[in-house]
Amino acid sequence: MTSPKRIDTLVVGGGPGGTPTAMALARAGRKVLLVEKGAGLGGTCLFEGCIPSKIFWESSRRLRELRALGTFGIRAGERGEPDLDWAVIMERKHSILSRRAAAAMKAFEAIASLDYVHGSATLIGPRRAKIFPEQGDSYELDFSTAVLATGSVPNPLPIPGIDSPRVLTSEGLLEIEALPRSMVVIGGGPIGVEMAQIFRGFGTRITLLEAAPRILGPVDQDLALALERHMSEADGIEMHLSARVSAIRHEKDGVAVVFENARNESSTAYGERVLEVTGRHPHVAGLGLEKTGVRFDRHGIKVNGRLETDEPGIYAVGDVVGNPMFAHWATAQGLALARHLLGAEARFPTPAESTAVIFSTPEIAIAGLTETAARQAGLDIGVATYHYAKDARAQVAGTAEGMLKLVFEAESHRIVGAHALVEGASGNAGEAAILVDAGLSLESVAAAIHPHPTLSESFGMLAREVLASLDGGRA
Ligand code: FAD
Repeated sequence: MTSPKRIDTLVVGGGPGGTPTAMALARAGRKVLLVEKGAGLGGTCLFEGCIPSKIFWESSRRLRELRALGTFGIRAGERGEPDLDWAVIMERKHSILSRRAAAAMKAFEAIASLDYVHGSATLIGPRRAKIFPEQGDSYELDFSTAVLATGSVPNPLPIPGIDSPRVLTSEGLLEIEALPRSMVVIGGGPIGVEMAQIFRGFGTRITLLEAAPRILGPVDQDLALALERHMSEADGIEMHLSARVSAIRHEKDGVAVVFENARNESSTAYGERVLEVTGRHPHVAGLGLEKTGVRFDRHGIKVNGRLETDEPGIYAVGDVVGNPMFAHWATAQGLALARHLLGAEARFPTPAESTAVIFSTPEIAIAGLTETAARQAGLDIGVATYHYAKDARAQVAGTAEGMLKLVFEAESHRIVGAHALVEGASGNAGEAAILVDAGLSLESVAAAIHPHPTLSESFGMLAREVLASLDGGRA
């Protein structure tokens, strides 16, 4: 590939934010260069985030299911309990990651006006960047617009002992060579919760420390509390909430994590390893923002409603802009931005239509506003709850726990939030997203014929229940 010296758009970062933005612009004929300094196209999501963590999750889930086969009338054969082959899991991870990275590169190469450099980019002025290819000499180029999609990096806890080799970030844990017998997880956000349950499923003894009074801060409170109970009672994870970690001590066989508990007493958790996942901050190091008018703080690069920074012509998408930090959110922002830059009408995603899946056990699917967020936004709302204990599909699957909550406007019945905690909730995340995004009413959801027996039925049944109760039982 030849390196352009003057281009339409420079995209820095080849994750789920930068890659689709670059492809959409180049497909429309814009001359685009994407620069990526990591392992290849795919970013944190492919190499250190969504995909490798879900490969571990899949193995952990299947192992749990195998162990529970007795419930379904299936006995272990002569060879007894299933066992874990860590080398196979790691090989499977490697194979999926490289296949996906190669497919992304092939799709890239098929677009004539799209160029790719494996290396890093730094801005040296509001319209000029310096490119440092992994191989070959550095060079300067001019661009008309730039899209910063450099993602995020883990927050290091400012405490003594954090630099011990036994303390891992999520990136380190996804590369671990052998399964730890015990692990202290610091942080009860989505990554901490997922990893705690995945490794507990593998058989690791887990202690989870969370500084807030509950896990998963922005998630609906009832769902988060129910999951917290499951983690403690069903999984046997030792949970400490309102736990403020103050130091990590290296010991002979592991590490000791010192923390103050909810009663302000000093306490210690022991583990062979520590996983520190206390949040992420925007990755702007080395990006040369000081040479431009782009402003940022620890929450992200400052952008307006069209994702333009304070430097006209320079835009930012994805984790580098701040929360929510999800791959599909980065992609939605990138695709909206590409449409805008191409002069088409663009709908930029807003927090009111944000969606997420947390691959906990049971899973959590989220679309739109929680009850609390809707009230804070000044909406007059109703809230309805369906319990999966009575659900046919959940009973058949042996996972009859959890709940679905619909948050709707009291007068119009428009659904503004759908939140589910149930094993298999990820499969319903699409329905939840569409009904919030399209602003569907309880009446529309009640009228749609949801197939029986599936988890999706819960949406229709709950909508009908609410309407019946609002209508004195006639609906
Ligand atoms: P990134 O994917 O981080 O990509 C940014 C890229 O920019 C990187 O590849 C980096 O190398 C490159 N870069 C940085 N600076 C430069 C430079 N100066 N020059 C050139 N290149 C540069 N999200 C989900 O939606 N679902 C999940 O299940 C999920 N699981 C996760 C699990 C874990 C353990 C983690 C850590 C994250 C998870 N996420 C998940 C979050 C998801 O990975 C991020 O939200 C997503 O990757 C953000 O995309 P992005 O394009 O903004 O940034």
